[in-house]
Amino acid sequence: MKIDSGTRAHAENLLRFIDASPSPWHAVETVKRGLEENSFCELKESNAWSLEPGSRHYVVRDGSSIIAFVTGDQAPTKTGYKIIGAHTDSPGLRIKPNPVTRSGKMNRIGVEVYGGPILATFTDRDLSLAGRVGIMDGSGGFRTQLVHIDKPLLRLPNLAIHMNRKVNEKGLLLHIQNELPLILSNSNGEDNDGKDFLNLLARQLDTETDSITAWDLAIFDTQRGVLYGPDDEFLANSQLDNLASCHAALTALLSEEALKGETTRVCAFFDHEEIGSESLKGADGSFLPDVLERISLAQNQTREAYKRALATSFLISADMAHAYQPNFTSAYEPDHRVRVNHGPVIKINANQRYTSESISDSRFIQLCLDAGVPWQKYSHRSNLPCGSTIGPITSAKLGIRSVDVGCPMWAMHSIRESAGVLDHEYMTRAMTRFFSHET
Ligand code: ZN
Repeated sequence: MKIDSGTRAHAENLLRFIDASPSPWHAVETVKRGLEENSFCELKESNAWSLEPGSRHYVVRDGSSIIAFVTGDQAPTKTGYKIIGAHTDSPGLRIKPNPVTRSGKMNRIGVEVYGGPILATFTDRDLSLAGRVGIMDGSGGFRTQLVHIDKPLLRLPNLAIHMNRKVNEKGLLLHIQNELPLILSNSNGEDNDGKDFLNLLARQLDTETDSITAWDLAIFDTQRGVLYGPDDEFLANSQLDNLASCHAALTALLSEEALKGETTRVCAFFDHEEIGSESLKGADGSFLPDVLERISLAQNQTREAYKRALATSFLISADMAHAYQPNFTSAYEPDHRVRVNHGPVIKINANQRYTSESISDSRFIQLCLDAGVPWQKYSHRSNLPCGSTIGPITSAKLGIRSVDVGCPMWAMHSIRESAGVLDHEYMTRAMTRFFSHET
């Protein structure tokens, strides 16, 4: 399979983007860096906004959701908004508030399951932690600081086959209370109330142990992303679901041809998709409606004008899709097998687990045709429950027509996911077309 140098470089950029983003808070920081390198300025929700045509801005809510936009030459009432939505979070393990438990002279870190990870894939990996820590500042207030321990620190060792003889017949089943705590260190036998762990965090943050008050800490895999296959046509990393969609959308927004135009272009990347999106900063919260309305009001538009803008807007809800894995034929709908490196997938579900319908499908297909990329259609097996994403929530909340699409990938919610190098390029080209041409 021929992979040209530009396509390969784009895939390598994606791998670096993910490697720099071990938690949703870091993902937002990585996105911010890309935006600021392209002259985007931050707007605070607590300040008054005034916007001109062609303004480049971004808004962050609670550190792990971000909306970036370029205002169009025309008011949104005339053109509607063009929006690409994706999510910054990935399923996995989060560290509990009183994390250290001692057992058999070992210190372990207690974890809570976040969303729906494939737990068995977390065994025998070189794990570490990243996220946000609350720190008292000594003058009656507090601040938050990001932490990223970029070395193997924690481990979930498998049970040897000699103690789990049926593992290859029954699979690895992990009791989420008793069998998920991660090995941290040998214990000196004293009950130190988790001080060693706090000391470790404090050293990393260059602060006092006693000043740490709280945290949001995710477990991540320190192994870097790679290209693989005879022609490096595949890629593997953690968090492809859904940082690959964020990276494609951001690349599209920052492309030269998409940075100017009549329509206001928006990228909305939300935390908390993996746990249902209902939160301060999730897709089922007020973040996107608030920001879209304020973009309109800040250009001296009325509330009615804002509502009129929504009526002509369009959302591409981008989240990854299930590629056909030929070892598991019975898991797939035989006539809707989507293949890695065969193009973006339009996800269709009559029960509206996905928003795609004949009008929005057609619009996305036209984008693919115009961008010169192939596309595929996916329908889940009828006898399996179908997943969902931010598309239905966002579309319902705003009254915006939407299509659900994504790149085909293997092993969704494994700590090591895998996808196609060509598909990432194809998706980026379709999204760039969406942002750069008036339709
Ligand atoms: Zn997803």
